[in-house]
Amino acid sequence: MVSRSTQESIDALRLNSIPPQGLFIGGKSHDAEGGKTLEVVSPIDGQPLTSIAAAGTADVDAAVKVARRAYEKGAWSRAAPAARKKVLLRIAELIDKHALELAVLGVRDNGTEIAMALKAEPDSAAGTFRYYAEAIDKVYGEIAPTADNILGLIHREPVGVVAAIVPWNFPMMIGAWKIAPALAAGNSVVLKPAETASLSLLRLAEICAEAGLPEGTLNVVTGRGDVTGEALGLHMDVDVLAFTGSGGVGRRLLEYSARSNLKRVYLELGGKSPNIVFADALDLDQAAKVSASGIFRNSGQVCVAGSRLLVEKSIHREFVAKVVAIAASMKVGDPLDLSTEAGAVSSADQLDKNLAHVRTALAEGGELRTGGSRILEETGGFYMAPTVLDAVRPDMKLALEEVFGPVLGVMAFDDEDEAIRFANSTRYGLASAVWTQNLSRAHRMVRAIKAGVVHVNTYGGADGTVPLGGVKQSGNGHDKSLHALDKFHDLKTAWIQL
Ligand code: NAD
Repeated sequence: MVSRSTQESIDALRLNSIPPQGLFIGGKSHDAEGGKTLEVVSPIDGQPLTSIAAAGTADVDAAVKVARRAYEKGAWSRAAPAARKKVLLRIAELIDKHALELAVLGVRDNGTEIAMALKAEPDSAAGTFRYYAEAIDKVYGEIAPTADNILGLIHREPVGVVAAIVPWNFPMMIGAWKIAPALAAGNSVVLKPAETASLSLLRLAEICAEAGLPEGTLNVVTGRGDVTGEALGLHMDVDVLAFTGSGGVGRRLLEYSARSNLKRVYLELGGKSPNIVFADALDLDQAAKVSASGIFRNSGQVCVAGSRLLVEKSIHREFVAKVVAIAASMKVGDPLDLSTEAGAVSSADQLDKNLAHVRTALAEGGELRTGGSRILEETGGFYMAPTVLDAVRPDMKLALEEVFGPVLGVMAFDDEDEAIRFANSTRYGLASAVWTQNLSRAHRMVRAIKAGVVHVNTYGGADGTVPLGGVKQSGNGHDKSLHALDKFHDLKTAWIQL
């Protein structure tokens, strides 16, 4: 049900002008050195929205110095966990209080449909801050099982300065997955948002300051990846770099680490996730509905999107027809309309990449069932019709490469063995799903699929209690759950002769 008053509030917020945004360093807004800025274009209508500061090496250095100073001072890093918890809970409260404002700001910047953004952005970010707030005074060091005359203690210590580099698809959700556990563990953070989705994270930094986070503990440097991001990656005084984004940039970050101070680098990368439907699935209508939303929500700009649909041959025609019917009837358009089911593609560049993938897939023998083109061009915004391509083979580019757009490739399989072979035939291993009523088969598939998550009879929706991370070239770290804290803690041994 669309709430009239919520829609009215959204419509009012969308008209707010957004002043040029500075860097957030040491609790204050600063211009970048030389006054450099980047224009922010809204994907809703292709019009300039505002500008963000474009941080250079000197600005990044200033942010890291401020973060280090705050860390050494100890107002946060040496505060009792219960004291940190209080501030983190206050941050969550303030995110809730400003949820609509944050969501609308983010959507004007990146184009996610507001119904989804409300849940996935402020709501999820507040939940993440709450989770790590509640966790941090319950995570202990250890006493080792030593001989009687020895005391072996294992302390958990913050690592120092954490740099977090995040993408544009869900800036607040993914930003919070890094910032909240890093802060909970007592670190200082320098955050680099994507150039096309910085606004809500800059506002979040103000909220953190308002909640009582000591000055310099969270800093935000905006700007280009190959300038601002590179300077962070190469910085000699960053201890840990936590990244979510593409494999290509992930590779560079490992190189930056090798060329600088061997900082630890945690990578959450892309996927080409198989969504596998067996003929014995309980409810094919439900499976089709969830499969369609598993690829088309946020216009496919979801790392765990089920972008390869693997269907058992006996139901292939029937099932694909159901998914196509849903895709063709989805409401694509103004992301700030609560009834929109898929918003804008985040930038003109990304839209061009999506369309190029479709052309290549057709040239390689794919068969277009629906979509395949830009729509609503008259709005000036970047919109693409949900697209289904059938007859995809495992060697086609569409089966191997992440599109990161609303493009679903369908492959038919003969039996369980072939489904497993297709599922594992890419360099990625992020997410997956299996639809079957056969419990033994479900468990066999969970074991056989090489991925960080295997959904059974659903797609997506895993909450903060379970880790999210990839295997193979989908990455090496885990966001969410208590396991995420391990990235932001050092273990120190005290070996004491008694
Ligand atoms: P991207 O890799 O282009 O950019 C991510 C971030 O890296 C941005 O902040 C960007 O400015 C920065 N960056 C770019 N070049 C850099 C460089 N040379 N040095 C340092 N930083 C640099 O990714 P994107 O296009 O923003 O996001 C899409 C990608 O993110 C997809 O591959 C998607 O699958 C992935 N992703 C993964 C997850 C996950 O949890 N595994 C979640 C969301 C998105």
